[in-house]
Amino acid sequence: MKIIKSIKELVDLRKSFNSKKKIGFVPTMGALHQGHLSLVSKSKKQNDVTIVSIFVNPTQFSKNEDLSKYPKPIENDIKILKSFQVDILFIPSYNNIYKKDFSIWIFSDKYTNILCGKYRKNHFKGALTIVLKLFNIVNPNNAYFGKKDFQQCFLIKKMVTDLNLNIKINPVPIVREKSGLALSSRNSYLKIEQKEDASQIYKSLRSAKDDFKKNRIESPTLLINSIKKKLNNINIKIQYLEIRDSHNLSIVKKCNNKSIIFFAGFIGKTRLIDNIQLN
Ligand code: AMP
Repeated sequence: MKIIKSIKELVDLRKSFNSKKKIGFVPTMGALHQGHLSLVSKSKKQNDVTIVSIFVNPTQFSKNEDLSKYPKPIENDIKILKSFQVDILFIPSYNNIYKKDFSIWIFSDKYTNILCGKYRKNHFKGALTIVLKLFNIVNPNNAYFGKKDFQQCFLIKKMVTDLNLNIKINPVPIVREKSGLALSSRNSYLKIEQKEDASQIYKSLRSAKDDFKKNRIESPTLLINSIKKKLNNINIKIQYLEIRDSHNLSIVKKCNNKSIIFFAGFIGKTRLIDNIQLN
């Protein structure tokens, strides 16, 4: 595995590849787990070269968030990616990515202020901007994003369409622990008993999905209330719980197979997100 830290070096290497070679790209913030690795595996299967990036992007964190304590086990990440036979690992520095007087940003005036964007003010502006920058540097044919961050994946697809980028976005299913808890780098903040509480998130979403499928409950209010009732018994502070259309993120009045339940909440100081599609 080639480890590259400079943009110029990566751009030059990328240019040297035969144009028939398919390039797959997996952008991450490191602290890798099986969720990230399912993206890497998919890229390896579908491309000739797989490039992974690790960059904890400061511009997608607000001042009160966990940027300074975000886990950065870089040596372990390198070991893992080597064992997965990733071809190139790109680890740019902050100064390499954000030059002095950086001032052009990407955002959607329709979709960045809902769901997570409502509570994390500049999050998607930072995320979309870094992803576009990385796309321009890496110039991949395929890029892989997890459905755990459904809104992010949705916005990146939208960016690719609206800005005419020639990149295929491949959404990858959520990888979960046996308990149902969606894997996340932030799970490392959780104590054992908090993890047990966190596993109730998926269980409650799953049970609402069953209510929709088996008991034909189509009312978003009824489904949301049943989730709230289940989560009421544990130490969890719900930030939002919404049912929206997976194709356009509009709020649904009646659930159908295209609907998706979005959850965000806090266990202690740790913010967790999850979602479940009703189809
Ligand atoms: P992050 O390092 O948190 O920025 O995540 C990098 C990529 O991995 C994003 O596309 C995430 O959606 C994806 N990812 C994170 N956790 C999971 C998971 N549990 N299952 C599938 N993909 C995930």
